[in-house]
This record gives sequence, structure tokens and C-alpha cells, in this order.
Amino acid sequence: MILEYNRPVTLEAALALLARPEPVTLPLAGGTTLASATREPVAIVDLQGLGLDTFQAQGNSLYLGATLTLNGLLDRLHGLGDAGAGLIEGLQKAITHEATYNLRMAASVAGTLVASGGRSPLTTALLALDTALLIQPGDEQVGLGDLLPRRTERLPHRLITRLTLPLSARLAYEYVARSPADRPIVCAAVAIWPSGRVRAALGGYGAGPRLAFDGTEANGIGIAAESAYSHCGDEWASADYRREIAGVLVERCLQILDVSSS
Ligand SMILES: Cc1cc2nc3c(=O)[nH]c(=O)nc-3n(C[C@H](O)[C@H](O)[C@H](O)COP(=O)(O)OP(=O)(O)OC[C@H]3O[C@@H](n4cnc5c(N)ncnc54)[C@H](O)[C@@H]3O)c2cc1C
Repeated sequence: MILEYNRPVTLEAALALLARPEPVTLPLAGGTTLASATREPVAIVDLQGLGLDTFQAQGNSLYLGATLTLNGLLDRLHGLGDAGAGLIEGLQKAITHEATYNLRMAASVAGTLVASGGRSPLTTALLALDTALLIQPGDEQVGLGDLLPRRTERLPHRLITRLTLPLSARLAYEYVARSPADRPIVCAAVAIWPSGRVRAALGGYGAGPRLAFDGTEANGIGIAAESAYSHCGDEWASADYRREIAGVLVERCLQILDVSSS
């Protein structure tokens, strides 16, 4: 239940509202999770007046404002040009797999990361890309991999304002699910940098996606993926199934990226 609605137009005013010890005050982005009728009573700070829905490619980085919607991101990826060409296909696939058109119109990139579980395609893709988050107050830069397991301790009273992705990386995203539009039972995202650095993240299980591999070459990536998902059984799939499929999907991503693992 929403007790109090605020719509500040400056970041300072938003942070002042979020800093209050009482009432419990949460940022509202797309509202697709927060508007749920089952939540405890909260005050909300609507972020839509802050101008945080930006998209900017500069140098080797792609900067996404926290309230950019998933559909806004999808649309703007088309205009990236050669500099970000290697990101487009993998990101598009992960975004369209994340949510239906209606949800994508409202859901923001930061809200998706904060609310996501292990079965989030976009969070898996952004983890593979070693996405950095800018958190206020304090201008703190945090890697998504560091923040994900500690979201509940680190985010109260604070705001993610920006995501930074490496523009020169290439990305592939693959998954298995009960149907093409269903959430993944196992998904894999592999990112490769011009330097040869390779990162693989797995989703489909647990409280958040997992980093399976971060190396200077792809050697051993399949074994690392199998190992990362070797004890991940639940009502959707056995641990044996997930382990095997994790290896297969990572190899499939490497094929898409035209990279050899041996
Ligand atoms: C019909 C329906 C079906 C759905 N199905 C699924 C599903 O299958 N799987 C799934 O994972 N999700 C599902 N969701 C959840 C939802 O779509 C996503 O989690 C969504 O992407 C959240 O983004 P948002 O911008 O709407 O966030 P909001 O609802 O506005 O916020 C989500 C959380 O993030 C916090 N937050 C938002 N922005 C920031 C910020 N900048 N800094 C810090 N904290 C912030 C909020 O305080 C809140 O705790 C579903 C939702 C609906 C309505």
C-alpha cells in the first residue's frame, strides 16, 4: 500500500526524501513491482521527474540512466552504430526475453536489476558485461556482481542513478525455457572484450544470476559453467540437467561470438 506519493524534480530532493528514517521510503521507477497490492505500507519517491532516462554512448562506454525503460533501451540500441555493434543482438535478445511489450514500456533498467531474481535474462547479460552502477549519495561506483548479493543491505536510502556498460564488448545470450517466452530454466550470457577478456554469467536459478567465468581467454569456460551450476536443482530442473545445459549454452554463445574455447 502506498502511504505517501512524492515526485521531486531534483536529485537532491529525491535523496533527502529517501534518507528519512520514517516512513519507510522507496524509489519508484516503472512501478511494476512496487505497485503490487501485497507490499507493506510505504512512502514512495517517483523518479520520473529527475531526467534519469538517458542513453549516451561516449568513448568506450555506454551510459544508461537508471529510469530508462526496457523498451527505451531496445529502441535506442538500434542507433548505436559501429561502436556498439557487438552488443546489440545479445542485449536485444535478453531484453525481449526479460519482459513482455507492456512491461517493457514501464519497467526501468535499474528497477529490473533491483527486483530481479536468478531467472532474469537482462541481469544475467549485464553481469556478463561487468556493468558498473553509480549509486547516490556519495558517487559510489559498484560492480553489478558486487551489488547483487547485497542489494537489501546496500540500497536502502540510496538510489542507483546510472549504469555503465563497455561499448566495445561483444555479447551473446542463449537460454532454454519451457516455451520461447517463458523465464529461463538456464540462460547464459558471454561477453568478450577486444583485449581477449571473456566473462560468462548464468541465470535461471536462485536469488540472482552467477558469474561463472572471468578470464583472459575462453579456455575452460565450459567446465567453469558446468561447475557453477553443478548443485542448482529445484522444482524447475535437476542439478544434473542445469549443469549440462550451462556448459552447452556457454559453448553456443562462443560459437555465436566466433570464439574457440580450446
Ligand atoms: C504482470 C507482471 C509480471 C511480472 N513478471 C515477472 C517475472 O516473470 N519475473 C520477474 O523477475 N519479474 C516480473 N515482474 C516484475 C517486474 O516486471 C520487474 O522486476 C521490473 O523490471 C521492475 O522494474 P520497475 O522499473 O517497474 O521497478 P519498480 O517496481 O519501480 O521498483 C522495483 C524495486 O526497485 C527499486 N528501485 C527502482 N529504481 C531504483 C533505483 N534507481 N535505485 C534504487 N532502487 C530502485 C524500487 O524501490 C523497488 O524496490 C512482473 C511484473 C508484473 C506487473
